[in-house]
Amino acid sequence: MHPVLKDAHERREEMVSLLETLVNMDSPSTDPEKTTAISHFVGEWCRDTGAEVEYISRPNVGDHVRATWYPEGVQSLDDGLLLLCHLDTVWPVGEVAERPFKVEGDVATGPAVFDMKTGAVQALVAVKMMVESGSMPDRPITLLCNTDEENGSLTSRPIIEDLAKRSSHVLVLEPSVPPGALKTFRKGVGRFDVTTRGRASHSGADHAAGISAIDEMARQILYLHSLTDYDTGTTVNVGVVEGGSRSNVVADRCTARVDLRVSSIEEGDRIVPKILGLTPELEGATVEVTGGLNRPPMERTEGIVKAFEKARGLGQELGLEIEEAGTGGGSDGNFTAALGVPTLDGLGAVGAGGHAIDEWASVQGMIERTALLVRLLQEL
Ligand SMILES: [Zn+2]
Repeated sequence: MHPVLKDAHERREEMVSLLETLVNMDSPSTDPEKTTAISHFVGEWCRDTGAEVEYISRPNVGDHVRATWYPEGVQSLDDGLLLLCHLDTVWPVGEVAERPFKVEGDVATGPAVFDMKTGAVQALVAVKMMVESGSMPDRPITLLCNTDEENGSLTSRPIIEDLAKRSSHVLVLEPSVPPGALKTFRKGVGRFDVTTRGRASHSGADHAAGISAIDEMARQILYLHSLTDYDTGTTVNVGVVEGGSRSNVVADRCTARVDLRVSSIEEGDRIVPKILGLTPELEGATVEVTGGLNRPPMERTEGIVKAFEKARGLGQELGLEIEEAGTGGGSDGNFTAALGVPTLDGLGAVGAGGHAIDEWASVQGMIERTALLVRLLQEL
């Protein structure tokens, strides 16, 4: 067995116990106190392994944490390697009490075990392995853990972009494409809020005087959904609709939340104006749209392909078969790839079920991917 893989296997208990600690900390994006707690736990863990640690506070979200391990005599981030993890989850406080961390055989379960607390463990332990064996690369390694990724990384995006620009590669510890492929392509993601307004009236006494904002919204929804085109990879999903007050009142207001996915920047340029330019169909009604493309597509560039080939080769040395795949889901890798920085995503958990109650991660996968990450950090 390759010595790095052997080292990783010997750390099985350490990894499982660290994963248990992280999974059993509720950390929804919407709870700054909880996400600050987990990011400080991770930050102090990094400090203990010799990192320089900085907590970055932004309004209404938990602290983000940046940890950098510098080689001796180096104090610049330039040409370093950037690891990205998010510590926030889609699960509310109380989810851990409902279904705490558990391991049965090879299968670990618990809130956010797949997306992406296993990936965080891999990043932390990979660096620790290199520190302890004196095999850190001759360049800085930075780990950035944010706490608002599941909400679109609105406050951490500039921090991530700034760090990425100074890095040679970005490695994203988001989960793999089940069962274990790395992500070399991601769709771009847009988010929009649509509000229609009409005029309220009594639905019995004065129906004709009303203008139904719900009727108007229904027409807008049919148009928005008609923009979906599987051949080009474009999807538009109206995921939330709210409107009206009671059944006997013609609704004067309706809102919808819309998700857009596109495969290329050109397709984004074509579709986004259509959504922002919605016009009312009913006389007297109005439509207002805010939003835009939140994450640009991560296109499969030459730099990304090269980094993937490196990972595949290093995987072979470890006896691991590493495949590549694309996904409709966005991540912070979309931001860094759009800057032209070679980005390898999906290096985290092997398993399935992200954002779902049946999510799981393979313990063996976590061990093997930690070894792969060590080799990537040493050889990229
Ligand atoms: Zn994620």
